[in-house]
Amino acid sequence: MNSNIAIVCSGGDASGMNPALKRFVEYSYAKGLNPYFVRNGYEGLIDNLITPATYQDVSGIITRGGTKIGSARSLRFKEASYRTIAADNLRSHGIDKLIVLGGDGSFRGMERFYHETGIAFCGIPSTIDNDINGTDYCLGVDTALGVIRNAIDQIRDTASSFRRAFVIETMGRNCGYLALISAITSGAEMCLIPELPIDIHEFSGCYRSQIQKGRDYFIAIVSEALNSREVSEWFENELGFESRVSVLGHIQRGGSPSVYDRLMAYKFVTYAIDALLEGNSHSVICYNKSHFNFKTIDEVALHPHQLDPELLTLAREQFLPSHCQM
Ligand code: ADP
Repeated sequence: MNSNIAIVCSGGDASGMNPALKRFVEYSYAKGLNPYFVRNGYEGLIDNLITPATYQDVSGIITRGGTKIGSARSLRFKEASYRTIAADNLRSHGIDKLIVLGGDGSFRGMERFYHETGIAFCGIPSTIDNDINGTDYCLGVDTALGVIRNAIDQIRDTASSFRRAFVIETMGRNCGYLALISAITSGAEMCLIPELPIDIHEFSGCYRSQIQKGRDYFIAIVSEALNSREVSEWFENELGFESRVSVLGHIQRGGSPSVYDRLMAYKFVTYAIDALLEGNSHSVICYNKSHFNFKTIDEVALHPHQLDPELLTLAREQFLPSHCQM
C-alpha cells in the first residue's frame, strides 16, 4: 500500500512556497506516495484541515507568491494536548511523514511532535529574512531581494530628480542580510544593519564635502531593527538635506517567485522527500557552499543566526564612515 505524506507551511509566508507545493505533489506521485495538504499551518493539523492533494490543486501556482494552502502561527500547537489531537488527525489519514516549510520555531515545534508521536518530518528553511542558523539560503530570499531592488531603483528615479535623501527600510527582523545585499547591489551610499554598528554623525564631514562637489541625492538602506526615522531626521537637521523615509513593508513578502526560488523549491522538496523515504526522520535540509545537507534541529535552532563573516568584511570596506570617499 502507498504511504501518505503531507506538507504544511508554518510561520511567515515566503515566495517560493507555491513552487514547493507543486513539486511536492508531482514528486510524491512519482515516488508512489499519496500527497496531502495541511491548510493554515499547525492550526490546520489541530483542526483537521488535511486533504488529499491533486495535480489540479497545483496547476498554475508556480508563478504565484505566498502559499496556496495558507500559513499561520499556532499558540495551541505549543500545548501537548493539542499536539495529541494533531497526531490523531494525521493518523486518521494514514499520514506518517510531513514536510514543513517554515523557520526554526516551526522546526522546534515539529521536533517535539516527532518525539511524542513518531511522525517523521523534514524541515525546509523558508523565510525572506535569511536568518536561520545552519543554512546559507532560505526559500524566498531571492524573490524578496528582487522586489527590494525594483523598489530602490524606482525610488532612485524620484530621489535623483528631486534632490532628496531617501531612507529605505527593509525587513529582516534582527538580521541585516536583506538590507546589506540590497545596499551593495543597488549602489546605496549608506547601509545600517544591526551587525555593523555605525555612528552616522561620523558621515557629516564626508557627506558635506560630497554635497559641495555636486552630490544631489542619497540612498540609505536601513534594516528594520534600526530607527529609519532618526536617520532621516539626521539628513535634515545635520546636513540640511530634504529627506523621506520609505518603509517597504509587506511588499517584500510578495511577488512571483524568481527563477532561483523556483529552482531551490524544486531541489529542497525533492531531497527532503528522498530523505524521508531513506528513513531520515527528523531533520532540516540546509544549503551550504552550493551543497544540500541535513542538520539536526539543535544545529539549526539552538544558536542565533550570524551574518556571513566574509560579507561583513565587505560591508565594512564599503559602508563604514572611515571608508567614505570625499
Ligand atoms: P518560525 O517558524 O518562522 O520561526 P515561529 O517561531 O512563530 O515561526 O513558530 C511557528 C509555529 O511553530 C508557532 O506558532 C508554534 O505553533 C510552533 N512552535 C514554535 N516553537 C514551538 C515549541 N517550542 N513547541 C511547540 N511548537 C512550537
